Amino acid sequence: MPLYEYTCSKCSHEFEALVFNGERVECPQCKAERVERRLSLPARPKTESSPLPLACDPKAPPCGPGCCRLP
Ligand SMILES: [Zn+2]
Repeated sequence: MPLYEYTCSKCSHEFEALVFNGERVECPQCKAERVERRLSLPARPKTESSPLPLACDPKAPPCGPGCCRLP
């Protein structure tokens, strides 16, 4: 149940939303579905050979937005 931060492309409203698989996100203010996901965590490693972030325990659920194990 990942929690993402979004910015509405229409009214620039910033909000957080829990997103389930395939579920659309709409702006709670203007109901627009044109929203952009904000990446608030450090970018994932650019190369596959880089070690995983320390916070990303392969035995635990995905650590959150930007987790290397999320699509
Ligand atoms: Zn909006």
